[in-house]
Amino acid sequence: MIIVFKPKVKETDVNHVVDQVKQRGLDTHLVIGEEVTICGVIGDTTRIDPRQIEVSPFVEKVMHVGEPYKLANRAFHPDDSIIDVSGVKIGGDHLALIAGPCSVESKEQVIEIAIAAKAAGANLLRGGAFKPRTSPYAFQGMGTEGLDILLEAKKVTGLPIVSELMSAEYIDEFNEKVDLIQIGARNMQNFDLLKEVGRRCTKPILLKRGLAATFEEWIMSAEYIMASGNPNVILCERGVRTFETYTRNTLDLQAIPVVKKLTHLPIIIDPSHAGGKWWLVEPMAKASVAAGCDGLMIEVHNAPECAMCDGPQSLKPSKYAELITQIKEIAKIVGKEV
Ligand code: PEP
Ligand code: MN
Repeated sequence: MIIVFKPKVKETDVNHVVDQVKQRGLDTHLVIGEEVTICGVIGDTTRIDPRQIEVSPFVEKVMHVGEPYKLANRAFHPDDSIIDVSGVKIGGDHLALIAGPCSVESKEQVIEIAIAAKAAGANLLRGGAFKPRTSPYAFQGMGTEGLDILLEAKKVTGLPIVSELMSAEYIDEFNEKVDLIQIGARNMQNFDLLKEVGRRCTKPILLKRGLAATFEEWIMSAEYIMASGNPNVILCERGVRTFETYTRNTLDLQAIPVVKKLTHLPIIIDPSHAGGKWWLVEPMAKASVAAGCDGLMIEVHNAPECAMCDGPQSLKPSKYAELITQIKEIAKIVGKEV
């Protein structure tokens, strides 16, 4: 529910209405503009009779937001959110290019890939140190040692780091070492983790879409993080599970305009996990930028045939460089700067 106040309303009158809302156990979020002040009501708005608010002489109107999310809602925040990841802006006119291996495997591997990715134009380095694997027998990641290797690569290239957090146990370490904290598809509805991430993470969050999550479920997960105290959420579409088995997942390109219509949050596309095949990455990356995404997250590996995880969907650095040259051309057409 959104309360729109009369133009040039006095602060004391706004506070009076806010108190009325809070007395019913709901939270509020005020946006004070030059002309108009609006108040978002957060929580179970069924506890409020909008007529009781509308009757106030200071209130212009009460609008119902159909969606159950408020903080992420475009209706409540008409401008695109631009999120600063250690100096790299994501959202608005800025296109983020995140590249790197699925998993951190060694210092030599990460540094070699990071240097090549940066030379190609990437502005953020990805690498999984804690890996969510379907099999308990598969490589689980290097853990803390992996994060330290990413930090060394950051020292060499200056690229901020993106890495996945799987457990709240490591939040302090991620706050210290990682610039953009990824919550993976499998944890998108780990609500206790989302609440802790909102409450304790001091860095922006990259929230991947769950394997079969609807837009509303995905945005509600962003809302969990935002409502718990961290407003800096970037969404990442990485393909959803469908009846098709030829590709790993089906890239939902419609997610870009839908997310932009419903929310003010930036949306990044991960074509690597979507298709699961390296040769699908180029056409899907181009289509994503053409459709207005705010960034690409692409797996790049110096020796995909020997990768410990996701080699078949990884681009070699030379292919990545070719792709980025073309991506920059498309970016110009859609008014994005790299
Ligand atoms: C990843 O980015 O390495 C990853 C595991 O992605 P997802 O959670 O989308 O499967
Ligand atoms: Mn991967």
